[in-house]
Amino acid sequence: MKIIVLNCGSSSIKYQLFDMASRQVLAKGVVEKIGLHGSFIKNERIDGDKLLLEGDIYDHQSGIEYVLGILTSVKHGSISNFEEIDAVGHRVVHGGEKFNSSVLITDEVIRMLEECIDLAPLHNPPNLKGIFAMQALLPNIPQVSVFDTAFHQTMPDYAYMYAIPFPLYKKYGIRRYGFHGTSHRYVSQRGAEMVGMNKKDMKIITCHLGNGASVAAISNGVSIDTSMGLTPVEGLIMGTRSGDLDLGVLTYLMMKEELDISTANTLINKHSGMLGITGVSSDMREIMTAAYEGNERAKLGLNMYHYRIRKYIGSYAAAMGGLDMIIFTGGIGENSDYTRSEVVKGLEFLGIDFDYDRNNGLRGEEMVLTKEHSRVKVLVVPTNEELIIAQDTMDILENMKNQGYKIDY
Ligand code: AMP
Repeated sequence: MKIIVLNCGSSSIKYQLFDMASRQVLAKGVVEKIGLHGSFIKNERIDGDKLLLEGDIYDHQSGIEYVLGILTSVKHGSISNFEEIDAVGHRVVHGGEKFNSSVLITDEVIRMLEECIDLAPLHNPPNLKGIFAMQALLPNIPQVSVFDTAFHQTMPDYAYMYAIPFPLYKKYGIRRYGFHGTSHRYVSQRGAEMVGMNKKDMKIITCHLGNGASVAAISNGVSIDTSMGLTPVEGLIMGTRSGDLDLGVLTYLMMKEELDISTANTLINKHSGMLGITGVSSDMREIMTAAYEGNERAKLGLNMYHYRIRKYIGSYAAAMGGLDMIIFTGGIGENSDYTRSEVVKGLEFLGIDFDYDRNNGLRGEEMVLTKEHSRVKVLVVPTNEELIIAQDTMDILENMKNQGYKIDY
C-alpha cells in the first residue's frame, strides 16, 4: 500500500510518499512560497536523487499537481503512475470537539471541518485547500484526515475548561483543545516500547520542544492534560509565542499602547517568546550562541525557557499522581543536550538519575538518558508525525475493507 501524506500550510506544502509494507519513505519534499514570488519545489527520493524545481506556483492545487508529476516522472519519480497511490493522509490542525480520532474524508466531514475554521482560521483553510486539490486531481482515491487536536480529546472537563462564564464555552466552544497531538501520541507509544513497557500502565510526560512547543500528561495511554489551549499560544515559552501570560498584561498593553485586536494578536504570537525576551532571534541555536558569548538577555531567556518546562513537568506529575517517564522531542528536544540537562536539573526528587554522559552531544537519536536503576526514565524520541498519519490512513482503509465497505467516490 502506498500513501501520500500532505501537510498544507498557508504558503507551503510538505509531503511524503510512504510504502507501508516496508514503512519506508520513497520520496519527500516541500512546495514553498505558493502564491508568492520565487516559488519552488524540493523533492528527495529514497536513493538520494534530489530535484529543485523553480517557477511560479499560484495555488495549492497547482503545487500538488506538480508534486504528483514529479512522483510519477521517469527521471525523478518513485512510482510509475497514479494507480499506485492507495490513499492520501492529511494533517489537519483543528478538529474541535467534533473529532476524537482520524476519519475518512466525506462530504459530511468536510462540512464539519469548515465549521472548525473559526477555531483555527490560519491553519484549517490551507488544510482544506489540500483536501479539495486532491479531490480534484485524484477523485477516486480515499483521503483521511488526522487531527493535531484529536489525541487530547480524552482530557477530563476539569482540565479542559477555562474559568470564564460557562455560556461562552457553549456558544463558541472556548476550551483547551491542545495541539501536537500526533507527535505526543507517537513519542509516548515509542518511548514505552523502547523500555519494554505498555503505555497503558504508565504515567508519561512528553515535551515537544520545537519552534512551537507543548507538554502533555499521558496517563494509561491517554492525554489527560496539555499546555496549549484554545490556540497554540498558551503554555511553554516558544520561538515567538509568549506562552502563559497574565491576561491583565494584554489588556493593560492594549490600553497603554492603544493596540487593536490584530496588533495584540501579533504581539503575543509573533513578537514575544524567545524572540521578544532575547531580542536575538526565535531560533534556539542562535540564542544559545548569543548566551555563550555573554548576551545577558539571551541567558535570561534560556533560564525562563527551562524554568517554564520544569514547572509544567512538576504540575503534570502532580496531575497524574506520579511519573514513570519524561520524553523529549521536537527540534530542540531532539537536538539540544543543553536544554535536556537544564530541564532535568533539580528534578532529581521525582526519582530521576540522569546520565549526563549519555546525554552529552546526543542529537536526533532515540535514547534512554537515565541510569539503569533510575525510577523515572528520561528519553529522547525523534518525532514522526507523518508516519502516524500514514498509519492511521492505512488502518482506516483496512478497517473499512474488512467491514466490507467499498470505498467508492
Ligand atoms: P522544529 O520546529 O521542531 O523544527 O524545531 C526548530 C527549533 O529547533 C529551532 O529553534 C532550532 O534552533 C532548534 N534546534 C535545532 N537543532 C538544535 C540544536 N542542535 N540545539 C539547539 N536547538 C536546536
